Amino acid sequence: MGERRVNLSPSDLTFSWDGCHRELWLYYNHQVKAPMFMPTVAELAESQESYFMNKSAPLSTSAMHPDIPEGKIVDHGGWVLSKPIQIDGKDSHLSIRGKYDLLVEFPDATYGIIDCKMQARTSDKSGFYSPQLEAYAYALENPAKGEAKKISMIGIYSWSVPQAWGNVKAGFGYRVNSNWYPAERNPQALQDRFNEFITMINGECPPSKDGCDHCKYLGEREAILKKS
Ligand code: SF4
Repeated sequence: MGERRVNLSPSDLTFSWDGCHRELWLYYNHQVKAPMFMPTVAELAESQESYFMNKSAPLSTSAMHPDIPEGKIVDHGGWVLSKPIQIDGKDSHLSIRGKYDLLVEFPDATYGIIDCKMQARTSDKSGFYSPQLEAYAYALENPAKGEAKKISMIGIYSWSVPQAWGNVKAGFGYRVNSNWYPAERNPQALQDRFNEFITMINGECPPSKDGCDHCKYLGEREAILKKS
């Protein structure tokens, strides 16, 4: 068991928030985290992001998708740390800390954040991931140290996998479609999510998620082990 966390990961505002609040409460108050196994997800995301990263001669966003506003891809996997998140005008115990996928610099000296995803099927998830994208923007616009950056674009870039191709001699692969889903900037929605998140973390331990198979397994396991 560890100390209370002081860093809020942007992905916990979307994917984890949508899951089990009890699990988040345990992690943020005691650093007890459920083991997670996501085979190849990290490797696929890394290969997708680094495909467009060239630090010595930055690529244009047009290399990714024609609908992304024209800019240079200047960084990949950069860490951000924000000032403490404010709730009702006062500093909370949490700051945003996380790693964005791609950072774009525009000719007007503003920046864009692109979150990269692999998808089995094409679907627009920009609404779902909006708080996560906003959280990166918040951290870059309100950094704990250094100069603030103005964020003028956020969005999801995905590769979806419609079909396999190739042959036994050349080898097999997947042909991917590239998709661009811009998200509207919405700082108020992020502040609302901060309020909900921090209120939950500061409250009593939430109940188990309805119908959770893992909780059921743990309960049955404990009952058997107690008897034996
Ligand atoms: S076992 Fe299920 S209900 Fe219990 S904390 Fe984990 S996800 Fe939540």
